[in-house]
Amino acid sequence: MPMYTNEYYRKKAEELVKRFNISEPPVDVRKIAEELGIEVVEMTLKSWFFGVLLNVDDQFYITLNKAMPEHRKNFTLAHEIAHHQLHGGELAYMKNSKRDYYHREADIFAAELCMPSFIVKEESGKWYKDWRYLAKKFVVSEKAMVRKMQDDGILRQGNFDCAY
Ligand SMILES: [Zn+2]
Repeated sequence: MPMYTNEYYRKKAEELVKRFNISEPPVDVRKIAEELGIEVVEMTLKSWFFGVLLNVDDQFYITLNKAMPEHRKNFTLAHEIAHHQLHGGELAYMKNSKRDYYHREADIFAAELCMPSFIVKEESGKWYKDWRYLAKKFVVSEKAMVRKMQDDGILRQGNFDCAY
């Protein structure tokens, strides 16, 4: 069972952003991984494989699918950083479905890490809520940016014509 609210995971991500003094986009998640002592390795993998957090002899690695577009690499990195921060080394072994909620928690954390609310708010004001431009600036997918801005009450609910 999940133990905390979404707000808790968002807060954990925000703490990390603040710890590394990040105040403008894009959030350099690769650098955050490195600062946390995690080695990032890009590999040629099956297209359905995004990434994984591994712990080998007490050294953490995030393996990324090399063929992914930059925004997907960023989100995947952030997702794996979430596992590192929230779930420790444990997750490297887990592929069973009853632990699905771990991945949902990681997604909440990852969205906040790539798009911290306080920075999105500021940039939205500066750029007239231009979500297409903001997606580029934050190096996230348009879909992720729209969802984030809707969650934060910056954009109205409903459909936006965005690329994935
Ligand atoms: Zn995951």
